[in-house]
Amino acid sequence: MKQFEHFIDGAFTSGTNGKSFENRQPHDNALIGMVAEGGRAEIDAAVIAARNALHGPWARLSVDDRSDLMRAVADGITRRFDDFVAAEMADTGQPRTMMAHAFIPRGAANFKVFADVVKNVATEAFQTPTPDGAGAINYSIRKPKGVVGVISPWNSPLLLMTWKVAPALACGNTVIVKPSEETPGTATLLGEVMNDVGVPKGVYNVVHGFGPDSAGAYLTEHPGVDAITFTGETRTGTAIMKAAAEGLRDVSFELGGKNSAIVFADADLDQVLEGCMRSVFLNTGQVCLGTERVFVERPLFDRFVATLKERVEKLHPGHPEDKATSFGPLISAEHRDKVLRYYNLAREAGATVVTGGGIPQLPADLAQGHWVEPTVWTGLPDTHAVIQEEVFGPCCHVRPFDSEAEVIALANDTQYGLSTSIWTRDLSRAHRMAGAIDVGITWVNSWFLRDLRTPFGGSKQSGIGREGGVHSLEFYTELRNICIKL
Ligand code: NAD
Repeated sequence: MKQFEHFIDGAFTSGTNGKSFENRQPHDNALIGMVAEGGRAEIDAAVIAARNALHGPWARLSVDDRSDLMRAVADGITRRFDDFVAAEMADTGQPRTMMAHAFIPRGAANFKVFADVVKNVATEAFQTPTPDGAGAINYSIRKPKGVVGVISPWNSPLLLMTWKVAPALACGNTVIVKPSEETPGTATLLGEVMNDVGVPKGVYNVVHGFGPDSAGAYLTEHPGVDAITFTGETRTGTAIMKAAAEGLRDVSFELGGKNSAIVFADADLDQVLEGCMRSVFLNTGQVCLGTERVFVERPLFDRFVATLKERVEKLHPGHPEDKATSFGPLISAEHRDKVLRYYNLAREAGATVVTGGGIPQLPADLAQGHWVEPTVWTGLPDTHAVIQEEVFGPCCHVRPFDSEAEVIALANDTQYGLSTSIWTRDLSRAHRMAGAIDVGITWVNSWFLRDLRTPFGGSKQSGIGREGGVHSLEFYTELRNICIKL
């Protein structure tokens, strides 16, 4: 049985309180191992290590050396590729193919992208006239924020955690990561890589535990933490923002979504279906950018629903190691209860269940896993909880529309504003629509096509701030002005 320990000041430790909790595989509920549970003492130790590291060898590295070290971390992940795939597969239950082709390589890529970004960003300079005629020069420099608290979710653990750790370190900060209690594996493994490639001790720290009254809350409340970057639920973001208000610490938030796909009748149906199958069902619908509301122009509606049903019924739930598996479990029994509650609410409200709506029949070795059926509904009122709230499961509601104005109003009728996908062959319409939907990220004829240099983040209650490329520097560095009188 595995032991997942904290990683503090370059060393693994189970902490001082003797507390631990279970880590189980979502696909069959088997025990993977025990995870050390951090309390105030472990967070204190991590903060001391991270603060000390700000003044040690780490601070003396040139930008080029730091950038090289970030590349070495990326290479270190790639060298341990099979270990990372195995750890993430055990923690999430998702198919090996997805881990190996997308989520783990992207985890490594995050370090490479920010290694380049920090070397190539100029700062501004102004020549300023003065009354004596001699003038002055103003220029700016970027300084690391200091100790950054990184709180990450379970739905793509390595990718989402390194999306924050990589720019934070590339900019010269030190970090304390509190990974999700559901997925402790890859954050722990990354500690080994950090040591292997020579990242100085105290620069990357991990403390395991839960949120409220546990490591998560203690980290956000700690006065020795200078800034907090968080990915997770909107209501958790609200709690963290309150904690960050004490001491006026800066926050960067990537939060929930209730994303739309808008399908016009002129779109290439095959392309749309391929896109929607990914956007609704990838990672069992546990993707912040995932589609839960599909709006289809009326002439295409019936054909779209019938063809989507055919494709959904071909999804194959199974063991993550099995090459034929195209559909995994939900992360936990608790999350399955939440998703099934929405399935019941939809049925009770009289939704047409086009497909799914329950728990699949699976072989005995998977029967204890947290499985639900991929589900498609039609016929719910626009105000229903299933249309308004983030389910975060493998499901969508499909609704017809008749005009651009109507679908813009429908798509914007949500507290969230993370992403949308617009499917049409009419380029002018695509541009019109893209400007009218209140979201941080719009895809046209695609979904989750990411260039890591672009601004990533949510509008409305889907986030605060933008990360990605140079935009990450806005949060992970402080811009200072220097004025030289000539
Ligand atoms: P969550 O908010 O329940 O937990 C996220 C992390 O916060 C975990 O590590 C948890 O332990 C910690 N936490 C919980 N309460 C805390 C508190 N009071 N103080 C400090 N830390 C606390 O989210 P989740 O269920 O792990 O992840 C799913 C959610 O994340 C969904 O809402 C999804 O949309 C969102 N998400 C958003 C993005 C994005 O980029 N916008 C990406 C992925 C996931």
